[in-house]
Amino acid sequence: MKTVIISGSTSGIGLGIAESFALAGHNVILNGLGKSEEIEATRARLAALGAGEVIFHGANMLEPEEIADLVASTEKAFGSVDVIVPNAGIQHVEKIEDFPVAKWDAIIGINLSSAFHLIRAAMPGMKKNGFGRIIAIASAHGLVASPYKSAYVAAKHGVLGLIKTVALEGAEFGITANAICPGYVETPLVSGQIADTAKARNMSEEEVINEVILKAQPTKQFVQVGQIAALANYLVSDQAAQITGAALPMDGGWTAQ
Ligand code: NAD
Repeated sequence: MKTVIISGSTSGIGLGIAESFALAGHNVILNGLGKSEEIEATRARLAALGAGEVIFHGANMLEPEEIADLVASTEKAFGSVDVIVPNAGIQHVEKIEDFPVAKWDAIIGINLSSAFHLIRAAMPGMKKNGFGRIIAIASAHGLVASPYKSAYVAAKHGVLGLIKTVALEGAEFGITANAICPGYVETPLVSGQIADTAKARNMSEEEVINEVILKAQPTKQFVQVGQIAALANYLVSDQAAQITGAALPMDGGWTAQ
């Protein structure tokens, strides 16, 4: 049984990963925004899936001290933090000359800096235990760019640099660090983006789905949350101990082009 922290796990990909880890019997620390009744219902539903405990910590991923507390309080409650999944993320789609400065700061803060703060806080305990798994949810946009996503693409490329560096620092301590790079996954984050992209490109939402999203992905299918969760579970296993510093695309062939 491992203890797993997943940032941004009240929705979408993070929630799917949390479900799969709960089902596998691990202790899961949920985190993210949302209504407290809904979060409690999610927590209780996940707790019933397996033998591990499921708790919630409401750290704001823009606040380094709250992130440090997320790790410290988990170590106190469970004895260790074995796996961290820096996953929280937001998106904003706009031409760079109109890109709001506050959106740039928030995207870099949540999508990149929060991964740094989470890893920074968890690393000493992982080194002490001689075991750790760091699985960042980056993006195909960590490998290639699209127009109007300057902050997101910059943050996700940054996550890959961070992960490679941490992989080297953790290599002799039984710690692996990898990034999963999904293509388009149907989650609330993408639904919002469809509307924004339609506005930025002066297209209908249907045109955005067919001509922007499915055009990028040769399989013409969305990636499923469960497929990403299955890869995250594999990366935690002993069989994956020699996979480290890798950026693993799961993008229907998008970045093969
Ligand atoms: P989502 O909007 O469904 O979930 C995002 C999560 O982050 C939510 O739980 C939200 O509450 C949380 N969050 C946002 N701001 C936060 C903050 N300040 N503090 C704490 N939590 C915060 O999005 P998703 O599609 O599941 O995205 C999850 C990750 O996957 C993101 O990093 C995203 O960039 C990445 N990703 C998504 C796709 C996709 O197509 N959906 C593709 C590639 C990568």
